[in-house]
Amino acid sequence: MLLRKKLVRLSGVAVLAGLMIAARAGAAETAEQIVLDPAWEFAGYSVINTGSAALYHAPAEAARGVTVCVNAGHGTAGGAAVYTLSHPDGSAKLVSGTTQAGATQSIAISAGTTLLDGTSEAAANLSLAMLLKEKLLDNGYDVLMIRETDDVQLDNIARTVIANNTADCHIALHYDSTQNNKGIFFLTPPNVDAYLNMYPVSLHWQEHTALGRTLISGLQSVGAGIYGNGEMEMDLTQTSYSTIPSIDLEVGDTASDHSEYTQGIIADGIVAGLNTFFSESAAEPEKPGSRENF
Ligand SMILES: [Zn+2]
Repeated sequence: MLLRKKLVRLSGVAVLAGLMIAARAGAAETAEQIVLDPAWEFAGYSVINTGSAALYHAPAEAARGVTVCVNAGHGTAGGAAVYTLSHPDGSAKLVSGTTQAGATQSIAISAGTTLLDGTSEAAANLSLAMLLKEKLLDNGYDVLMIRETDDVQLDNIARTVIANNTADCHIALHYDSTQNNKGIFFLTPPNVDAYLNMYPVSLHWQEHTALGRTLISGLQSVGAGIYGNGEMEMDLTQTSYSTIPSIDLEVGDTASDHSEYTQGIIADGIVAGLNTFFSESAAEPEKPGSRENF
């Protein structure tokens, strides 16, 4: 079912002329450049969307027919100076994050934090994203890379809408702004009726939560440190516009080690979680009827 769904989605993809060729482990790697199609649902809510994402295909012999969107958080120059609707229906944010609860508009995409060693969060997110991309391709996943350089001109809504239309799940990578290396967690939709009943959250919040919990299990399986029960409620622009399983994963904070070794373990945990998530999706289990059933 996933494959068929994806093919339908991809038929509407806006692909820039030409293929990008890059070297990867000695083999040719090609990517389709994906731009925001103004006809896609919610595309008109984006204000920064002149950039493009890159869609990489796994080797044909190993391909699963599943596309993972890897969204290295932040890295959009000028993104903090403009605003977008927090929710597509214009309602106010319910939980304070970068933007306070009560606001109907959110920063289009913030600059992110700075790690204690002076590395920008955006750079740490990017190095993890690049590691994760290679591991996903090696495991047969196609990969939609939202950002592969310091700057891509795509705000949170543009990133989300591109993922909605070209991927089977969306993982945004972040480091939190705290300073105690508290462990990994994901941001789950707030358990508030007004939010869970709001379209498109109403149709997808259960799969966001399921994806997050499965990734946390995968991260636990490789020995990564988890914060609390691995989840925190947050009212995010990403979640508010997502129509595929979609999470913000906070892989550490400003005090966390972000060496290639540690990020490699995190990437392995994410891949392990995705392997479980998509094998369970293929079996199409019954979805829980209420949040309490999780
Ligand atoms: Zn962040």
